Amino acid sequence: MADILIYALHHEGTFNKNSLGAITEGARLAAETGGQAHAVVVGQEIPDALAATLGDYGAAKVFKAEGPEGLAQPVVDVMAQVMEENGVQYALFGGGLVGFEAGAGLAARLRAGVTMEVTGVIVEDGKLIAQRPILGDSAISQSRYRDKGIIVGRLNAFEAKTSGGSAEVVAVEAEPSPQAARAVIVSRGEQRGADVDIEGAGTLVAGGRGLGNADGFGLLEELARAFGGNTAVAATRAVVDAGWYPYAGQIGQTGKTVAPKLYLAAGISGAIQHKVGMQSSENIVAINKDANAPIFEFSDLGVVGDLNKIVPKLTEAIAAKRGA
Ligand SMILES: Cc1cc2nc3c(=O)[nH]c(=O)nc-3n(C[C@H](O)[C@H](O)[C@H](O)COP(=O)(O)OP(=O)(O)OC[C@H]3O[C@@H](n4cnc5c(N)ncnc54)[C@H](O)[C@@H]3O)c2cc1C
Repeated sequence: MADILIYALHHEGTFNKNSLGAITEGARLAAETGGQAHAVVVGQEIPDALAATLGDYGAAKVFKAEGPEGLAQPVVDVMAQVMEENGVQYALFGGGLVGFEAGAGLAARLRAGVTMEVTGVIVEDGKLIAQRPILGDSAISQSRYRDKGIIVGRLNAFEAKTSGGSAEVVAVEAEPSPQAARAVIVSRGEQRGADVDIEGAGTLVAGGRGLGNADGFGLLEELARAFGGNTAVAATRAVVDAGWYPYAGQIGQTGKTVAPKLYLAAGISGAIQHKVGMQSSENIVAINKDANAPIFEFSDLGVVGDLNKIVPKLTEAIAAKRGA
């Protein structure tokens, strides 16, 4: 029997979707071990009624602590205390930057094993085994834990499901560690382009450094309009780092994982860190002027040529076909 503690990131009355997925996954795993899944929330004056809704995703108890939202150290302090006081063996995070930081900190604090970027968890003899893709996602490694285990999911690895139910809310006062006060949130704001929804799109038109500059995205926006419907524009990290496109549209290891019906890449080399975020797409089409670009190795259709000539023609052809 092993209990699992899951961190739920909260902001303005809403829980993070990856956290909710982790709670659903934690509840499934705890049921298999014969234990229970509990959640932790850290925030300012989060209403008990809101915290209790995590029961709908499978949490039996919600340990609620006052503290700054979005900083990892207070989460480590609360989770370490709850795990030690309640004999909880495993902690689970849904991924994302706070999860990575808090997961690493919690592992160091508890001298526990930690596995990041986990895409699946199984139970064997009542113990959790975390599965993590390695070697460019060509193989899966399995992590077993000698004692306590910290598991941090890959973004979108766990799907949130409601099952009905309400959790018991338990107030926690954790002793803050000396380093907890060292980081403060100076300001909080909406990220430019945060409304770009690449995860929900059926067709993605993605651009890389081959676009030449930020204006190159204009070509892709026209192409996306021609496709119409549920189409969005996405990007590689190289162009996001260069400020050509917002981070909300970044695909890959440090961005989002997507699986649209059609993924069209223009001027993208196909680096492994990009590939891991889009390789599950149903159909991959790549336009690149270099016939040896790695992206052609995992494309269903490859077009060798200059995107500045090909993309406008494609836009025209698609618009004509759709009668737009
Ligand atoms: C820890 C770490 C994490 C990372 N995370 C990510 C991540 O999440 N997502 C991500 O995308 N990357 C990530 N990267 C970066 C990654 O390694 C690559 O550098 C990046 O994906 C390359 O982006 P790109 O394909 O736009 O640029 P490039 O590699 O420079 O490729 C540009 C391509 O455009 C082609 N091209 C140029 N001009 C034209 C033209 N006129 N017509 C057609 N084709 C043309 C070129 O032949 C080339 O293949 C990460 C790297 C590290 C180290």
